[in-house]
Amino acid sequence: MASSRDSNPTVGRGKARPASLPGLPSQLPSEHLLRLLGRIARECGSRAFLVGGPVRDMLLGLPLGTDIDIAVEKNPGRVGRAVARHFGARFVFHRRFLSGTVSLIDSARIDINQTRTEIYSRPAVLPEVKPVPVEDDLVRRDFTVNALALDISPRTFGNLLDPHSGRLDLARRIIRVLHPNSFTDDPTRSFRAIRFAVRLGFEIEPDTLSLMRRSIRNRLPARLSPERILYELRLICAEPLVLRMMEAVLKERLLQVCFGWQVPQTLLPGLQKLASSSATPDSIYVYLLSFLPMTARFPIAKLERAAAEAVRDFAGVRNRLARARRPSTVYRLLKPLPEPALRILSRTESASVARAVRLYLERLSRVRTSVTGSRLRGLGLRPGPAYRRVLERVLEAKLDNRVTTAAEEMALARRLVKQGQGRG
Ligand code: ATP
Ligand code: MG
Repeated sequence: MASSRDSNPTVGRGKARPASLPGLPSQLPSEHLLRLLGRIARECGSRAFLVGGPVRDMLLGLPLGTDIDIAVEKNPGRVGRAVARHFGARFVFHRRFLSGTVSLIDSARIDINQTRTEIYSRPAVLPEVKPVPVEDDLVRRDFTVNALALDISPRTFGNLLDPHSGRLDLARRIIRVLHPNSFTDDPTRSFRAIRFAVRLGFEIEPDTLSLMRRSIRNRLPARLSPERILYELRLICAEPLVLRMMEAVLKERLLQVCFGWQVPQTLLPGLQKLASSSATPDSIYVYLLSFLPMTARFPIAKLERAAAEAVRDFAGVRNRLARARRPSTVYRLLKPLPEPALRILSRTESASVARAVRLYLERLSRVRTSVTGSRLRGLGLRPGPAYRRVLERVLEAKLDNRVTTAAEEMALARRLVKQGQGRG
């Protein structure tokens, strides 16, 4: 891959220079904060760099997210603890990966990582980690535009390290890997290439695209653990352009290879409906899960799994719902379904079914009877299953407008108790 190392005046470590940022936009992600972090790292004996996404986005003039990614050459644990102490915040350190996170208010985070090399023992497994200087850390990164580092150490503040011509590729608007084995080392990079290309409106550079397609043809993504695949899918689901990204993921047959699976016809139209009705990232993710061959090995939270299964298994309910005439029937059919599933179905189903689901969510599920257990006891009904039956019958009558006032509800309850504890 061509390098413009020599033609780029801001490349390289550079000796102590004034804090100028030649060619960089003036609005740094809070220069004050970066200088502070650089100072703290210095006090802990290390140089420090802003790396990855924030540098890329800053150079593109894009708004920065709430995550700051800092790489230090020494003592990441000490630096992290000192930063956390400064802000009165929490620091969690993972010794095995030499990386930690300072959690600030409003879910803002500062990630503090040891500059490191990653050694892949086999394709697609998690790498071993070894400390190295920052230049060598940039070598392990996914794409040239993400392999940029901004020195924030006090005496060299503002130097841009760009050994892989990331700035040039930002200007050319291309996503390019650093070396031909990149997708073999880590097949999740196919998801990432698509995500960044669509998000930024970039092209995947032709050689990179060939390498990516070859790795998919060779079924390398199939070796990824479900954890890693689902992690990437979750990131995609949180993107405004999720539909375009999923179209590309499916066109490249990436998910098909991961799961040995065919794309169900209703997936993309459903995703489109969700994306265009500003559904939450969680809803979009659960909807996507409902189409995947979920096994027990899938690392999914209980509630998400239940919601995804309810969406997946909706066909039977759908048929009965289409024939339902009374509100109480709609209520009985939809009550067992988790609410997140219903919120999804209210957007993805055809008009008449979606209307019934909305009716349930917005009105039926909120109806309460004024007859209560204690009032039933007042009628001489002994506690037991009969309680529930009577209450259910009264609720049904209220849903169907057969009773409207509290007095009518009570009269009905009395009748039901007399008729034999709600059975008649
Ligand atoms: P985003 O704006 O989505 O957060 P990002 O570039 O910050 O984009 P992260 O997933 O936050 O992406 O990762 C931070 C950095 O870590 C990346 O910029 C990249 O340099 C590196 N990185 C992340 N995942 C990989 C990977 N699978 N392979 C190589 N480098 C990676
Ligand atoms: Mg990031």
